[in-house]
Amino acid sequence: MCDKGRKILHVDLDAFFVSVEQVRNPELWGRPVVVGGEPGARGVVACASYEARAYGIYAGMPLTRAYRLCPHAIFLKGSFPRYRDASARFIAILADFTPQLEPTGLDEAYLDLTGFEPIYGPTSEAALSMKQRIKGEIGVTASIGIGPSKLVAKIASDLAKPDGLVEVAPGEERLFLAPLAIARLPCVGSKTEQLLKRLGVTTVGELADLSAPLLRARLGSMGDALYRYARGIDERGVETPLAAKSISRETTFIGDTLDYPFLKATLRYLSERVGAELRREGKRTRCITLKLRYADFDTITRSRTLKWAINADQAIFDVGVALLGRALWQRRQLVRLIGIGVSSLIGEERQLSLLDSSMECWERLDRVIDRLRHRYGFTAIQRGQTLPLKDAFPTFFELYGCN
Ligand SMILES: [Mg+2]
Repeated sequence: MCDKGRKILHVDLDAFFVSVEQVRNPELWGRPVVVGGEPGARGVVACASYEARAYGIYAGMPLTRAYRLCPHAIFLKGSFPRYRDASARFIAILADFTPQLEPTGLDEAYLDLTGFEPIYGPTSEAALSMKQRIKGEIGVTASIGIGPSKLVAKIASDLAKPDGLVEVAPGEERLFLAPLAIARLPCVGSKTEQLLKRLGVTTVGELADLSAPLLRARLGSMGDALYRYARGIDERGVETPLAAKSISRETTFIGDTLDYPFLKATLRYLSERVGAELRREGKRTRCITLKLRYADFDTITRSRTLKWAINADQAIFDVGVALLGRALWQRRQLVRLIGIGVSSLIGEERQLSLLDSSMECWERLDRVIDRLRHRYGFTAIQRGQTLPLKDAFPTFFELYGCN
């Protein structure tokens, strides 16, 4: 993985939470803005605009202190669902460029574009069109670092902020890093920084002049890592987090309900939707999550992890019903929304030798129905357990055809 020709990108949105707020309310542009809470509230700054940073405000600082530094800043509570939505759109744009994608936060990700030059031209061109799409479709700016390793790409994107692009060519890593403060390197916290300072080291270049045995003697295994990092050597690859993916379906009722057969039938319908998508993607799941929103908007999720990975509608439904039964037993209140999701996804490698024969039957039946539905539409086939829906609401499938 350490081949010199790697083209690793680190893409990082600038002042993400604040930028999303500025897109919603253009009056916030160019002003000191702090997302995290009201100035008097407990808690810390989640994100500060560059104008607020000029006053010494940074993420993680207590809000009260931020207020003392800049009382005329605009303090916003922020909205996590809003940032999550923007993040999903951001990741979707990146995924258009390559599946070799590793999100490392809501607003940043590594990509491996090695070997893509014949398609995109120079990597920097691809990075520029990425920046353009992010700006055009989400309205926020991104900074991108390109380098032969994750370490170099990350530091390059930091230096590119805001709205910049920095590329480090293979062979130039050491030169690029040399003038930087050692705190720029990952794993250099304040303790390591002090220790290195006592050795007379303040820049990465000075660190690179120290021998491997000396660093090892002073810092143990971290000394080995620093010896490599000072030269820009970092063999980690971009890792696509398959397991992080999830599939879910949910539906909000027109009227809040506690009708158990109806809730169960809805859950069956949603389980079939989730199961169909799972099989279409060639995946199995080991974790099933039920979501309920009560009439008072209180929302709960209940999950169960399975011993074996499954993808049969019946298996998803069985776990969902068990979770539903327990949730309603704990709290009998009208339900406004019900949903079911699967996560911890793995490839569809056969595990049937481990499963019982009834599960094998279910899976075979699912595949037959998948084929028919593929041909005639999802609602062309109705399975027995969703019959209460048809009786209660003849147009249910039209209403809740939640694709
Ligand atoms: Mg960022």
